[in-house]
Amino acid sequence: MNKNDSSVIGKLLADHGFESTTDPRSADVYIINTCTVREHAANRALAFTAGLEEWRKAGNRILAVVGCLAQSNADEITKRLKHVDLILGPDAYREIGNYVTQITGTKSRIIDTKLSAETYCGIFHRPNAVADFVSIMRGCSNYCSYCVVPYVRGPARSRASDDIRKEIVHLVEYGVRDITLLGQNVNEYHHESMGFAELLQHVSVIPGVFRIRFLTSHPKDFTRETVQVIKENNNICEWFHLPLQSGSNRILQLMNRKYTKEHYNGLVEHIRSQIPESTITTDIITGFPTETEQEFIETLNTLREIKFDDAYMYRYSIRPGTKASSMPSLDEDTIKARLAESIQVKNEIVVEKTKAMIGKVYEVLFESAARGNGSRGKTRGNKNVIVQEKIKPGEVRNVRITEVKGQTPIGVVADA
Ligand code: SAH
Ligand code: SF4
Repeated sequence: MNKNDSSVIGKLLADHGFESTTDPRSADVYIINTCTVREHAANRALAFTAGLEEWRKAGNRILAVVGCLAQSNADEITKRLKHVDLILGPDAYREIGNYVTQITGTKSRIIDTKLSAETYCGIFHRPNAVADFVSIMRGCSNYCSYCVVPYVRGPARSRASDDIRKEIVHLVEYGVRDITLLGQNVNEYHHESMGFAELLQHVSVIPGVFRIRFLTSHPKDFTRETVQVIKENNNICEWFHLPLQSGSNRILQLMNRKYTKEHYNGLVEHIRSQIPESTITTDIITGFPTETEQEFIETLNTLREIKFDDAYMYRYSIRPGTKASSMPSLDEDTIKARLAESIQVKNEIVVEKTKAMIGKVYEVLFESAARGNGSRGKTRGNKNVIVQEKIKPGEVRNVRITEVKGQTPIGVVADA
């Protein structure tokens, strides 16, 4: 989501006559786009901003901190990081060009952290890669008890389907072949009478769209109708990122996730029975307040049972203002040990799943160069694949997987 927001900011500044640079320190305006989903990300952004004091003072320059940290910690940044000129929350980017011009003229600081119904309609950035993102929703109203997103990004709102279609047409014109529709819970998409399954159908018929994906699906709202649309439309990839968070029903309830492990298993069974070649990935939080050893083991068992194609493992991080922040925390050593154990279990499963790819042929859309003379691309299932051949970004080849290095499948072009 932040990558996409950075593209929006880039486009808004380009419209004001600015150019981006690959050497940030040579810039006139330095923008740090921040995340606060976990404490670690927030602390890194603060430390990084503090480290730019000398850069800021060495010339007539503007330093901006934008995004979720700017939204939640504007006061702290104002007081502690006096070299920051511009502080913008996620809904305040439209004015960024004017704000920069004003600061240049007045040398005074600007803070804008108003949340609104903003969806950045009509702002189509110039893509610079084969794969790109299109935001279909912003904000979130689910209030999972651990999560800061609803507080820093405001309530859920959907972008007009016609604007989504226009942006996709624009991206396709610039050579984008793999488009990921973005939202904190895409299954809640709703514009006029169009729901998410209809939106998928609507964008999949846009001429030239080679691949469509979407991120993220909340298991409580994921529908069988969506599975059906994916099954029927060849350019919608059969990759499902369905964050489970925990394998314990008591913890899921404390997390306010509104589904049970049984419901989740039912979704996985349905997806796999309808689309056997599908890949399913997930997010897991370990060490949630009051999680017992037995409940943690339930999560490990669920990982082993479902055998995800990939999983992002996070240690629980206290986010100020959330409901879980007032629940009794587990001790640091227990949280760390559980994270390490869950990563080990996840790694074993992912290696096993990746090794099962050996000998099979996958359609790979190449995106970039890889080490040496090789190339990197993605399968429809969102798995990165490396080949030794040099293949131009945007080309599609059938690749036979021959070995696995770490968790990465390596292959040879099978249709050369
Ligand atoms: N909207 C998405 C998640 C966005 S945040 C969804 O509902 O699935 C991405 C992931 O970060 C979450 O799935 C969760 O696993 C993790 N996360 C969010 N808040 C967290 C916290 N306080 N501590 C640890 N992990 C967290
Ligand atoms: Fe956070 Fe839950 Fe919303 Fe995802 S659905 S962004 S985890 S509150």
